[in-house]
Amino acid sequence: MIKTVKFGGSSLADAAQFQKVRDIVLADDSRRYVVVSAPGRRYKGDDKITDLLYECQSLAQSGAPFSHVFGRIERRFLQIRDKLKLNVDLKARLSDIYHMIESGASPDYAASRGEYLNALLMADYLGYRFVDASELICFHDDGTYDDEATQSRARMLKKFDRVVIPGFYGKRHDGSVRTFSRGGSDITGSIIARATESDLYENWTDVDGFLMADPRIVPEAKVIDTVTYSELRELSYMGATVLHEDSIFPVRKARIPINVRNTNRPEAKGTMIVPDVMSVPDRSCPLTGVAGSRGFTVITLQKDNMNSEPGFAYRLCGIFARHNVSLECMPCGIDTMSIVASDEQLKGKMDAIYHDIMAECVPDTVEIASCIALIASVGIGMVRSRGVAASLFSALSDAGINIRIIDQGTNEMNIIIGVEQRDFENAIKAIYLQFA
Ligand code: ASP
Repeated sequence: MIKTVKFGGSSLADAAQFQKVRDIVLADDSRRYVVVSAPGRRYKGDDKITDLLYECQSLAQSGAPFSHVFGRIERRFLQIRDKLKLNVDLKARLSDIYHMIESGASPDYAASRGEYLNALLMADYLGYRFVDASELICFHDDGTYDDEATQSRARMLKKFDRVVIPGFYGKRHDGSVRTFSRGGSDITGSIIARATESDLYENWTDVDGFLMADPRIVPEAKVIDTVTYSELRELSYMGATVLHEDSIFPVRKARIPINVRNTNRPEAKGTMIVPDVMSVPDRSCPLTGVAGSRGFTVITLQKDNMNSEPGFAYRLCGIFARHNVSLECMPCGIDTMSIVASDEQLKGKMDAIYHDIMAECVPDTVEIASCIALIASVGIGMVRSRGVAASLFSALSDAGINIRIIDQGTNEMNIIIGVEQRDFENAIKAIYLQFA
């Protein structure tokens, strides 16, 4: 058994967290590849090292002094090193980084140094080999991730027994440092798990796993034991954020499960993310989770005999494509067709889109309703149980909530409903309580 383990920023925020991480890694001999984030917040209101590094770079770029901010970064790293009595020569490295930022280093370079220094410290603490992510993770010169080059390089890790790798960044072919988007160490972990043919990718964070609903809305929400990659995509897409969205693809290709675990409660089993329904133990509850977000607009076109007008949907979708708006869903009736898109996507474009719809689709009426929240009730168990939709809708009706949109994918894994934004929280609560 080989495991790749990734620890997030809050798991590595100070020396005490480093100790927990070491206990976890050393407790299981198969935890051979360790990917680390930069130190995160120790308490509410604390700094994240990555934020401070970006701040230094932006101050330097505008010609302002940044040594006061850099000093905070130095103190955090030196404190960890000294408390753990490590031997890493941080002073020289910190001074190199300072000079690089001073002489115009890119934001990506600056931000990547948090992971770099943390990995050096962790490698020394564990007695593992340090391998720099810039030797492994490759980007094209246009900044997009180069999977082919990465996989062929990162396979070299297999010849090492125990390794620590900084997350979040790699190198372009021209040699410059490039980062993933924020939270991207999750992606590094996933890539390393695939390249080393790990049997499991453990992602250690500060929560017990994925919850069935947002705990700010449903404080008693239970942890999901097992979820498939596709269910998780539906849930994270709608706002459940524990893992970086893009971290699923590399391991999914290789059918490697991900186990989300809590560094502060290692005894909890966490959430297991598995390739498909075959790997899911029988579930008693058809609902795996419910998630949603506010901020959508529904544009509804009505036209008599719409269903006998070939190309209507094609023309309508073409308008949105031209305006570079991606669509969330398209609920339809016999003479109506609605487009649901996020307010963010539609910002500043609605008037032009309306004009094009009138000219190209010639509808009898167009209705635009904003302030809509979309809620996805997700569960592969829904396929096997009759009456799921019925109990979902009766729960909402009992809660006095009017449903504006209904959309069920034909794979029956997901029922999406649209409600007025003011009903958002009550709808999530009602659905959770009905099934959990
Ligand atoms: N340190 C980076 C961030 O704060 C990347 C990560 O933690 O995954 O976004």
